[in-house]
Amino acid sequence: AVIMAKSKFEYVRSFETDDTCLKNCYIVVRLDGRNFHRFAEQHQFKKPNDDRALGLMSRSARSVMEELEDIIISYGQSDEFSFVFKRSSNWFKRRASKLMTHVASQFSSSYVFYWKEFFGEQPLLYPPSFDGRVVLYPTNRNLRDYLSWRQADCHINNLYNTVFWTLVQKGGLTTTQAEDRLKGTLASDKNEILFSEFNINYNNEPVLHRKGTALIWEKREETVSKRMKLPNEEEKEVPVTRSRRRVEAFHCDIIGEQFWEEHPDVLED
Ligand code: ATP
Ligand code: ATP
Ligand code: MG
Ligand code: MG
Ligand code: MG
Ligand code: MG
Repeated sequence: AVIMAKSKFEYVRSFETDDTCLKNCYIVVRLDGRNFHRFAEQHQFKKPNDDRALGLMSRSARSVMEELEDIIISYGQSDEFSFVFKRSSNWFKRRASKLMTHVASQFSSSYVFYWKEFFGEQPLLYPPSFDGRVVLYPTNRNLRDYLSWRQADCHINNLYNTVFWTLVQKGGLTTTQAEDRLKGTLASDKNEILFSEFNINYNNEPVLHRKGTALIWEKREETVSKRMKLPNEEEKEVPVTRSRRRVEAFHCDIIGEQFWEEHPDVLED
């Protein structure tokens, strides 16, 4: 008989440190593409916003939500995505390193796996990677402020990038000239440059670019017909309704109350 004795090496396990996430808190994992400034250049991302790249980010985030447990909402923009685990999650005993690495590797492998669906024949030139971090938020207010912070960041960057690339692409400035032109300008100045010099109303820019992407679970009633055989009856087609949940994408304001009032089930009390 084989005796499963512990080896004399077993003690090294005790060097592992505890990284259990505090109970009751929302666990947020944020990923960010490594050196995507270069990645975007090498893969000829359209400036300031490449919709193929944004689509691939969202597709990869959807895969994370579908394959891993307990993620209630995710929010992404540019080369980053944040994933929120429900407060009561006990997945991997709430071990931060397990959650973070599963999110990062599921996301990275999906980014490569689905590349072709978004970039077609354009080749992926090298394997991309994403860093991850874990942050805990104890209250709904804190969590909403976190998501608001990321969406505000999306807005600030997108306004800057929109003016910057308009000055370059339509205004004929070099990138250095455009940078100098924007030094010290306020949001109102940037809106004014777009409007008065290029007849662009920033608020009419695509909402995907201005607001980013929020993914949540939505319940859907789904009716399928099933062949059934009841006692003393012929076999027949019977409609069966069941509720299924699927990931839905929203490109809207998540800072104000409206989104949360319309989706009251996302956050727990
Ligand atoms: P780090 O490794 O420190 O994150 P980084 O180069 O990835 O470095 P970020 O601050 O994360 O720096 O910025 C991401 C960059 O990726 C942006 O500046 C932008 O140039 C590019 N980028 C990401 N997504 C897109 C997109 N959809 N369209 C165009 N450019 C994009
Ligand atoms: P967990 O998600 O907890 O890690 P797991 O199924 O990955 O679950 P492991 O203890 O990591 O469990 O074991 C990995 C399993 O993968 C092995 O039991 C074996 O069945 C299979 N496996 C991995 N590499 C090989 C390989 N090269 N050849 C055959 N089987 C393999
Ligand atoms: Mg960064
Ligand atoms: Mg990055
Ligand atoms: Mg980034
Ligand atoms: Mg394993």
